[in-house]
Amino acid sequence: MEASLNSVYDSVIIRFSGELWLKKVWTRKFYERRLSRNLKTALKHFDVPYSGVVRRHGRFYLKTSCAVDAAEKLSRIFGISSISPAVQLSSKFEDVLEKSTFLASKTLQKGNSFAVQCKRVGKHDYTSNDVRKQLGQRVLDMFGEKLGLRVDLGNPDVVLGVEIRDDEAFVYSQTVDGVGGMPLGTQPKLVGLFSGGIDSAVGFWLVMKRGSPVVFVYFDNTPYTDETTTQRALDVAKVLFGWAIGYPKKVYIVQHGENMKQIMETNRKYTCLLCKRMMYRVAERIAEEVHAEGIVTGEAIGEQASQTLTNLRVLDAAALSYPVHRPLLGFDKSETVAIARKIGTYKVSSKTAGGCTAVPYSPSTKAKMEDVLRAEEKLDIDKMVDRSMESIKIVELD
Ligand code: ATP
Ligand code: MG
Repeated sequence: MEASLNSVYDSVIIRFSGELWLKKVWTRKFYERRLSRNLKTALKHFDVPYSGVVRRHGRFYLKTSCAVDAAEKLSRIFGISSISPAVQLSSKFEDVLEKSTFLASKTLQKGNSFAVQCKRVGKHDYTSNDVRKQLGQRVLDMFGEKLGLRVDLGNPDVVLGVEIRDDEAFVYSQTVDGVGGMPLGTQPKLVGLFSGGIDSAVGFWLVMKRGSPVVFVYFDNTPYTDETTTQRALDVAKVLFGWAIGYPKKVYIVQHGENMKQIMETNRKYTCLLCKRMMYRVAERIAEEVHAEGIVTGEAIGEQASQTLTNLRVLDAAALSYPVHRPLLGFDKSETVAIARKIGTYKVSSKTAGGCTAVPYSPSTKAKMEDVLRAEEKLDIDKMVDRSMESIKIVELD
């Protein structure tokens, strides 16, 4: 969509995600209020001026002189199914025909096929069908021949849409897909185990899309990893925070190296499992502090030795009070990568960073619970968790 079209429009139609309609009235109101707050915060953040937002009939109508910019920025707000820059008009039939034809003259391109759609609420001295027929005819009469336009009701290049609401109306001819999902903040927080790799970023995005803000927790395994791994995690976090405007941009960094050292002195084939179990325990303590309702990770069945179903069971047993959510459980890597590309994390997540040198040559894929517990007997788990909690540094990104 060209920014030069900003001068043609004066409004934006924002359509709610379909699922919002399935909610009971008071729940829907809560979701709509949150969505309104999130989108206003985003517009402010991006310096997109607007003079008002009105909620009517499952949509927000935004008044702005920068409709094209607004539509582009709002396409990243969860809870919106689509967005159209629009022109506001009165619902008088002649006004609808005249101003809609003007918009068509600015946006239809040579050789386009088009269809007129009309949605009408209220009492008028014409029908929706009158609008469809007469507007379509007027566009064809005025520049159909010059531009080589044709009507295609089934699969048009351009939909010239008119929404008539009592005594006012809106016309649009361009629509941007929204990201869908539920407004961020309509579900409680989750504590996210964040490695900065491809998977955890996508896992977080998926739960954010369903309305849950994520508290990012990164375990710094120095000296078994180096500062490139930490930097990569912070860079990826920054990209993800772009999907959560108005929410804290904080990363909790836990010093995990000393714990790793002690873990490596036990049964080496369980190093990764003991490492993760410790992460879960610390995540639970953080969840308690920040009032989160669970933990989210980027684990998928069999993606690593520590992620076989047998080993995931061993990991789960370390989380005593909170559920561990794994939004990628059934994803193939290629599916995860496709989402990572779409949300902008792929490039940053795939940057080479120092891998963890504590990973054993031959990790267990079928750990026995009693053997894992025996290995942990050599560790002072409570003390290790306490030390981890004391080591936390909260980095605030801008
Ligand atoms: P990812 O692709 O997310 O980096 P991975 O494929 O490298 O994960 P694992 O190392 O087994 O796989 O990690 C599984 C999950 O454990 C990650 O998705 C993440 O949720 C969590 N995790 C791994 N490393 C860290 C870390 N250093 N800090 C916090 N969480 C981590
Ligand atoms: Mg992974």
